[in-house]
Amino acid sequence: MIFKSVQKETVILNPAKNMASTAIPSEIRMDPLTRRSARICHFMKLKWEKPDFEKLVAGTAERCPFCPDKIMKITPCFPKEIVPEGRIVSDDMVLFPNLAPYDSFSAVAVMGSRHYIPMTEIAPERIAKAFGLAMAFFRRIRSLGHAESVYPIINWNYMPPSGSSIIHPHLQVFSTSSAPNLMRMELEAAKVYMEVNKSNYWDDFVKAETESGERYLGKIGRTSWFTGYAPMGVAGDVLAVVNDVRCTSQLSDKDLSDIAAGLTRAMAAYDKMGIYSFNMNFFTGAESDDYTRFHLLFSPRTFFNQALGTPDVGALQHLFTETVCMAFPEEIKKMLEPEFAGLS
Ligand SMILES: [Zn+2]
Repeated sequence: MIFKSVQKETVILNPAKNMASTAIPSEIRMDPLTRRSARICHFMKLKWEKPDFEKLVAGTAERCPFCPDKIMKITPCFPKEIVPEGRIVSDDMVLFPNLAPYDSFSAVAVMGSRHYIPMTEIAPERIAKAFGLAMAFFRRIRSLGHAESVYPIINWNYMPPSGSSIIHPHLQVFSTSSAPNLMRMELEAAKVYMEVNKSNYWDDFVKAETESGERYLGKIGRTSWFTGYAPMGVAGDVLAVVNDVRCTSQLSDKDLSDIAAGLTRAMAAYDKMGIYSFNMNFFTGAESDDYTRFHLLFSPRTFFNQALGTPDVGALQHLFTETVCMAFPEEIKKMLEPEFAGLS
């Protein structure tokens, strides 16, 4: 397991220091599994101004297709052979086909009747229950023996900076035989790792990261939490790895609750930095992929300039897929740590 980094230095004549010569450090890190590189640079304090949420949310409920007065009228239904009752419902949560599908089996899970839930008010029970609804959908696809029931995936875009066009909390749920880019690269690399090292990459990773402690946040049940070594997000990422689990379908109800508990801790920590939006993706193997472990990434999202609507992704990230993080993950770990206190 190699945590490779390359240190760089830029010298400028700094107008803020009377044109004195000033050295600015930066670092390039390679993900120990895929060798994907990420830059730690453009350092700034991880502190953002939150917008006026009342203003942001005002008027959006009237047009919201996920609000209780509209959801059962205007959302689509599954064909009878997939979901005989049309939509999968659990109390105030509803799962239905995505009108803009990403794949053959692509659904949206609305996480309750409440239109806007501030990030710190999303209860872990709600998250676990919504994950459970997605699991029920995955079981239906699986029971059909369908060729797409290989990788059951849950993604979450929360609030507009994350790419969500709807305020109402919802999950993107799909089952596919086509692994998305980074997930596929990870699976391929983990397979090679096992062939070469005769051990599971993720087991070795959890052991190494837990022992070093540099990015380790704690353990909830059999889920270990870390800050990402080569982050995808400008404010770092939180990575959770579930021991003994290869595929989403093998997660127990207890795992779902533990994952939800960790996610709400991450949300509480990033809220203190002024972050109010995030992406979260499940990274799953197929059930027989003994070289991988189920893991997820939680990546906070923000604007570089809220007033101008400048996103936190520019040309470097978008076209080179070279990510930028504005603080060292070891420092971000220290910022998140208080919310993960009390864990082993
Ligand atoms: Zn709504």
